[in-house]
Amino acid sequence: MIQSDVDLQPFNTMTIAARARYFCAATTLDELREALEFARTKQLPILPLGGGSNIVLTGDFPGLAVHVGMHGLEFDPLDDGIRIHAAAGENWHQLVMRSVELGYGGLENLALIPGNIGAAPIQNIGAYGVELKDTFEQLTAMEIASGDLVTFSAEDCQFGYRDSIFKRGAKDRYLICDVVLKLPRIWQPHVSYPALQQHFADHGQPLDELTPAVVANAVIDIRNSKLPNPVEIPNAGSFFKNPVVDEPLYTALKTSHPGLVAFEFGTQWKLAAGWLIDQAGWRGYVKNGVGVHDRQALVLVNPGHRCGSEVVNLAREIASDIQKKFGVTLEPEPRFYP
Ligand code: FAD
Ligand code: NAP
Repeated sequence: MIQSDVDLQPFNTMTIAARARYFCAATTLDELREALEFARTKQLPILPLGGGSNIVLTGDFPGLAVHVGMHGLEFDPLDDGIRIHAAAGENWHQLVMRSVELGYGGLENLALIPGNIGAAPIQNIGAYGVELKDTFEQLTAMEIASGDLVTFSAEDCQFGYRDSIFKRGAKDRYLICDVVLKLPRIWQPHVSYPALQQHFADHGQPLDELTPAVVANAVIDIRNSKLPNPVEIPNAGSFFKNPVVDEPLYTALKTSHPGLVAFEFGTQWKLAAGWLIDQAGWRGYVKNGVGVHDRQALVLVNPGHRCGSEVVNLAREIASDIQKKFGVTLEPEPRFYP
């Protein structure tokens, strides 16, 4: 079951070639537990893998890479909605489309996000104003140290903006095995994002005749028109988080750059990182087979299938330029391994 010296290029959407000292594809909880036991006896670090769409491999991984591949998807109708039990290895987009086909809303804004269910809670995936946490009930995870199963409620997960306890206090401590979501029977569309409004206006779609399927299809169309499909152009989605800044910096930037794209975020302001990178002149830039997507500057692309250090070097150059030009610190969104 455990292989040694395995190429991880097929397991990351950046298509970075890096090797894992050991690799295992687990499709049952017993296999997962055995893999963890193997790693424990050899004192190996663990790299949990789903679809590999939010990681950057900066070199060979000296431990055990575990592809979490348990399957199973159940929809339980309730009086007031539907409950979804999804195993970690199920594909996120397929889950969204199944729920839409059944006529339930709640996940349609999250259509076409790559990756698997197991990774969705890690950064509380979000798009077009909707986040996983809005429909999340609970998850089951296996503790890496003991192999024990633990349940996390929404409160336990401490979800935030592209954030959860699994990026902080519980980082590297659990493998997520399954997730339970609940979609309401009564649906409220979330279509405030300008791209969605524009799409419906362009297509003559009355806003009072929206259905979950109509919104999902709009999201799919918009995303296909501006985001690179990782199967064709290797990438890891948004490379940087949208920075959240205090009022004085926002006011100074808005005065010097009246076109600044920013949104209120509690008492602070969320800046569109893509806008800053675009304004700094990076959109469409390519060097050594690594570059910045020409339709969305927030996405770094790796058409030359280059190594992780080339990607990291470009990211550092961009972040340092944005710091110099705007006084704003950009933080990468994908997780770097090792
Ligand atoms: P991976 O990349 O395999 O893993 C991501 C992290 O989670 C790693 O740290 C990994 O170790 C860990 N992990 C994976 N599975 C488990 C598990 N079972 N248990 C514990 N840890 C685990 N994200 C958004 O939020 N919104 C978007 O709109 C969005 N759009 C994207 C568009 C594109 C084109 C791309 C390439 C990415 C996009 N992303 C987006 C980022 C990415 O798709 C999500 O973060 C997704 O949830 C990652 O899933 P994955 O299975 O590929 O995770
Ligand atoms: P977009 O619609 O061009 O918007 C640009 C930025 O402005 C986004 O980052 C978004 O923040 C923010 N924004 C726009 N309208 C907003 C509103 N009404 N209220 C608050 N914030 C608003 O962005 P895009 O690049 O095409 O992406 C569309 C959606 O998919 C976004 O939600 C984005 O986060 C998501 N996405 C995520 C990834 C990823 O890898 N994480 C990759 C591609 C797309 P938010 O990012 O906070 O929504």
